[in-house]
Amino acid sequence: MFYFLEFDTLRIPEEKTDIVVCGSGIGGLTVALTLKELGLNPLLLTRGIGNTYYSQGGIACAVGEGDSPELHFVDTIRAGRNLNDPHAVRILVDEGLFSIVKLERWGVSFDKDDKGYITTTEGGHSVARVLKVKDYTGRAIYSSLWRKLKEYGVPVVEGELQEILGDDRVEGILVTVEGKLRVIRLKALVLATGGAASIFRYTTNPSKARGDAIGIAMRKGIKIRNPEFIQFHPTVFKDSNLLISEAVRGEGAFLVDDRGERFVNELEPRDVVARAIYRKMKEGKRVFLDMRRLGEKIKLEERFPTIFSFLREKGFDPYKDLIPVNPAAHYFIGGIDVDMFGRTIMEGLYAVGECACTGVHGANRLASNSLLEGIVFGIRTAYRIYMDISRLRFSEKRFVFRKEKTVKRDLDFERVREKLWLLMGVEREGDDLKTLLEDMDKVTDTAPYWEPTVENRRILDLLLIARACTYCAYNRKESRGVHYRKDFPYEREEFRKDSYYSLSVL
Ligand SMILES: Cc1cc2nc3c(=O)[nH]c(=O)nc-3n(C[C@H](O)[C@H](O)[C@H](O)COP(=O)(O)OP(=O)(O)OC[C@H]3O[C@@H](n4cnc5c(N)ncnc54)[C@H](O)[C@@H]3O)c2cc1C
Repeated sequence: MFYFLEFDTLRIPEEKTDIVVCGSGIGGLTVALTLKELGLNPLLLTRGIGNTYYSQGGIACAVGEGDSPELHFVDTIRAGRNLNDPHAVRILVDEGLFSIVKLERWGVSFDKDDKGYITTTEGGHSVARVLKVKDYTGRAIYSSLWRKLKEYGVPVVEGELQEILGDDRVEGILVTVEGKLRVIRLKALVLATGGAASIFRYTTNPSKARGDAIGIAMRKGIKIRNPEFIQFHPTVFKDSNLLISEAVRGEGAFLVDDRGERFVNELEPRDVVARAIYRKMKEGKRVFLDMRRLGEKIKLEERFPTIFSFLREKGFDPYKDLIPVNPAAHYFIGGIDVDMFGRTIMEGLYAVGECACTGVHGANRLASNSLLEGIVFGIRTAYRIYMDISRLRFSEKRFVFRKEKTVKRDLDFERVREKLWLLMGVEREGDDLKTLLEDMDKVTDTAPYWEPTVENRRILDLLLIARACTYCAYNRKESRGVHYRKDFPYEREEFRKDSYYSLSVL
């Protein structure tokens, strides 16, 4: 629909490769490794480490005694408040087992004892079904898959996707490598660029997982689905993005306010606990996690090595000190609308992982289902590309884009992040959302004419996502899952349907 950067492909260095996988989290790495095993030759483009690396809790899969895919299915739909696509959930829970085996074959070694896999429980799971590698499951997965990628000889380009070339089909991409523009002609592009929870002032997401590629796809006319559903994690070390896993509360840590009083059942679902903390903070109070009593029964440095060492680095001793926490935007439930094989409506464009919406999570993600989604749907996407690639063609077309006029960017996105947190965060209200939309519309009209720099491109794409989230949050006049409207604090049957957003709504 529209480009942002100015370019003439005739004047930019160009290369050609069949398939580019953009993103090196669980989604992208799974697609790349599976394609390679199928005899294809993908190229991996990445701007660095994303959310996968920071995942602590684990990956859900019905492998234990007394568990079954049916039970996992029921828990997932219950958490998602019946907005899930049952077909997608069925796939997730049925194919989970194969995916876990695949991860092990690629070198991940989940915690085991002499009875087999050690599984833990997390909010919403009716049995212990979360496989883990201590408290650094994501890092263990990332490191093994990355090692495998190197072993398979998959070429990696460190760079950033800027534009997708083509209208009805993907004909190439524009990327920056060391600050310089390059064109890559390709037949298939897989977006595995992670979620966009970082549009909020407080977030658990690292800086490379900014989600702006969802905006790039939106500018191609691709629909996004359910962007109003953003999961907030209740306990993040104050003003940082270090998440303090709910397993810590599961072990018995308390939440207290500045008078030392408990104010919520710590084991309520994430959205309930996050709202209780948020309300305390709105009253001007501070909130702390009290882990001191855990020290009596477990060795914190052994059970939670990552959290323990981070807190010590910050000068906190969890055996003695109260740990200041706040909620933060954590997981982007919606995303690029895809089918069960990662396909979008644009020929040759696929999406997988947190940037995509398969419908598995509904209105709330069941904890530890997202790593599973990345691998299950990553494998399916690779198989689909295997089938499609023989009919996809390279394009030789010249693409040129120049702006008729340019204007200076008059937007500080940090202020947007602040406002999103206050008005579109843990609690929402119709009038606030309307004001927010009106404010955004004042800039979205001129934003396409901002000077064509990479930084402006990133901000424009984040702004497009922020508008999509706000627009759909405004129109969903009910509370469901993680979407909480103070003016409609209940579910309404007529809203039990997906939201879709495309730039034509602008
Ligand atoms: C702190 C934390 C803890 C979590 N714990 C768990 C857990 O225990 N269990 C669970 O199931 N889920 C957990 N999650 C969620 C889970 O980590 C993510 O949903 C999942 O890892 C997403 O994987 P992904 O491959 O889609 O994206 P990511 O892992 O985020 O990777 C995105 C990739 O895309 C690249 N990229 C982005 N934009 C561009 C661009 N324009 N050009 C080039 N490259 C780009 C990034 O550099 C990165 O390589 C957690 C998330 C966080 C933040």
